[in-house]
Amino acid sequence: MKHYSIAIDGPAGAGKSTIAKKVAKHLNFIYVDTGAMYRALALYFIRNNIAVTDKDEIEKSCDNVEVTIEYMKGEQQVLLNGENVSHLIRTEEVGNMASASSVYPVVRLKLVQLQRNLAKKANVVMDGREIGTFVLPDADLKIYLTASSIERARRRFLELQERGVTADINEIEKDIIERDMRDMNREFAPLKQADDAILVDSSQMTIDQVAETIIKYYQQNIINKELEY
Ligand code: C5P
Repeated sequence: MKHYSIAIDGPAGAGKSTIAKKVAKHLNFIYVDTGAMYRALALYFIRNNIAVTDKDEIEKSCDNVEVTIEYMKGEQQVLLNGENVSHLIRTEEVGNMASASSVYPVVRLKLVQLQRNLAKKANVVMDGREIGTFVLPDADLKIYLTASSIERARRRFLELQERGVTADINEIEKDIIERDMRDMNREFAPLKQADDAILVDSSQMTIDQVAETIIKYYQQNIINKELEY
């Protein structure tokens, strides 16, 4: 049975997960958050005092660690060696470790296998950095979602403020630019727009506008594909 897939790639803070969740809900697809998988592995490295520069230890631990995904009330849960760590992976520390450790091909290949298996079993909206270029090259729709770095920093700042966390918007922007550079310049499967991806710049758009745009593109793509047969 054919399963459909939508790939949403883009830099940190572009709104990928919020948008992907909305699109998935509307189409009754499963939302796959690949960043959460990198974050779960990062938590393992932090807990076990594995330095991100220690390639041998990182490679060794990839053999011992198991990242799995479950869905509870429609929400993705990420399990690290059987423990649900979904509520522990949203910190800056884990995010930074995920960004740094995800440059290793061994880390990526482990998680890419899990991601491809999920897309084989269900209709998915999957967000990440190289879903359209590497994980699901045959996705039915590929979106490259971006926004200016200052707009992404502003959104993150507001999010932190809402949680009562004080932060410096300039520091946040600096951090965002640094992560972008790392994601775009890594040797293996870097962040870049796939040749057949549609660029959506959300800087001046609301969440609903972006979600509606993507749903329209998807429906158009499916109609066009069916006409081809
Ligand atoms: O998207 P999120 O911020 O949760 O991802 C955490 C980190 O994992 C990112 O900074 C990125 O470096 C890495 N990542 C990746 N490939 C993906 C998803 C996330 O390299 N498909």
